[in-house]
Amino acid sequence: MRLSRSFLPTLKETPAEAQIASHRLMLRAGLVRQTASGIYTWLPAGLRVLRNIANIVREEQDRVGAQEVLMPTIQSADLWKKSGRYDAYGPEMLRIKDRHERELLYGPTNEEVITDIFGQAVKSYKELPQVLYQIQWKFRDEVRPRFGVMRGREFYMKDGYGFDIDYEGAVDTYRRMMLSYLRTFQRLGVRAVPMVADTGPIGGDLSHEFLILAPTGESGVFYDGALDTLDWLADPVDVDKSEDLERFFNNVSSYYAATDEKHDETAWASVPQDRRREGRGIEVAHIFYFGTKYTKSMDITVTGPDGSPVYPEMGSYGIGVSRLVGAIIEASHDENGIIWPDSVAPFKAAILNLKVGDETCDAVCETIYNKAPTQFLYDDRSDRAGAKFADADLMGHPWQIIVGPRGAKDGKVELKRRATGERFELSADEALVKVL
Ligand code: ATP
Ligand code: MG
Ligand code: MG
Ligand code: MG
Repeated sequence: MRLSRSFLPTLKETPAEAQIASHRLMLRAGLVRQTASGIYTWLPAGLRVLRNIANIVREEQDRVGAQEVLMPTIQSADLWKKSGRYDAYGPEMLRIKDRHERELLYGPTNEEVITDIFGQAVKSYKELPQVLYQIQWKFRDEVRPRFGVMRGREFYMKDGYGFDIDYEGAVDTYRRMMLSYLRTFQRLGVRAVPMVADTGPIGGDLSHEFLILAPTGESGVFYDGALDTLDWLADPVDVDKSEDLERFFNNVSSYYAATDEKHDETAWASVPQDRRREGRGIEVAHIFYFGTKYTKSMDITVTGPDGSPVYPEMGSYGIGVSRLVGAIIEASHDENGIIWPDSVAPFKAAILNLKVGDETCDAVCETIYNKAPTQFLYDDRSDRAGAKFADADLMGHPWQIIVGPRGAKDGKVELKRRATGERFELSADEALVKVL
């Protein structure tokens, strides 16, 4: 994309309404604009990041055998009355009436819809297990939308739903999802720690939230410092083998990590003093086993091995895709702007032409740009060099390819790594090899 023709409205001033760094930077770097309270328009660069995150989530879900569907954003209230949640859900649910006075709602989550679809199609235990997921917009009428897309009212979430014939199967599914999530976060270039979370009335130990540690996070967290460096994915896991999944899960669970809601002083006391970490975190994902809660209330059964009807065991698996855009920035920025991990960056590199109109500079820039025009942001504006550097730092491209008249004459460009500030003097071809 050529910057001179693109829609990337950056801001010089710090927007007064933004309280935390990621929100300020998302506005300043031109990623989003607020349309109404907690409701955002995604501008081209922001949308690229959102899509990159969604694609990684998708690939890692598919890799463990989950199947993607797309449910509507608007649901009928009838299904929620059946499950008993219509009244219980409260004012976070946006309730709508159509012209025939029928009650609809904008989905805050999709257990009812998916359980209904599942029940219509699946009749036998032989068709289980199934994990169905979607990446779709949700609406929750949050009391206090804040921090930009981190707590929006309309937000983009991956929500998955597991169906198993028995508890053991559901546990395998749960562990498989946990593995998939850790792989996902590793690819996203962030560390999200699985922590024991509240299971509500179901009980048990099968609810984990994944938290990115950040002082601005809304959850209090307590964890064993060994987790700061532990590689959960070091051992290979065959996701079709229960023993492998169990070994993986036990390894993850062997260190203390809990949100404030589930903090347990007795267990905490057994963590060595010098390894106790207390802080704050951003909930970016949540996995949850809830058994037959919905299959029972909605009366969905499949035929079991002995021919009698069985209520399938379920779990919910959510990742906050739009919240992650903010959370990644919260974890990865400096005083000059965003530092995108390579895997989610809107562009692989910015090409900074320091002397637009200079024949050599223009020619070198065009040659590089034309190698991958969709992956580069070419700053071809006739602005001062300082303004170009500042914008590139603000927007956080992993690399900057800096083309000035002196170097260009000798066939050299300067390559800057945003994260470390390292600079390399290279030929255009060598720079391309490093960046692409
Ligand atoms: P929170 O505690 O932050 O309100 P939640 O526990 O209500 O979140 P879940 O129902 O667990 O949210 O939804 C799954 C994921 O969706 C969350 O882990 C979070 O990443 C994301 N999410 C939830 N609410 C919002 C929101 N208002 N804006 C953006 N993302 C959200
Ligand atoms: Mg909530
Ligand atoms: Mg929560
Ligand atoms: Mg949650």
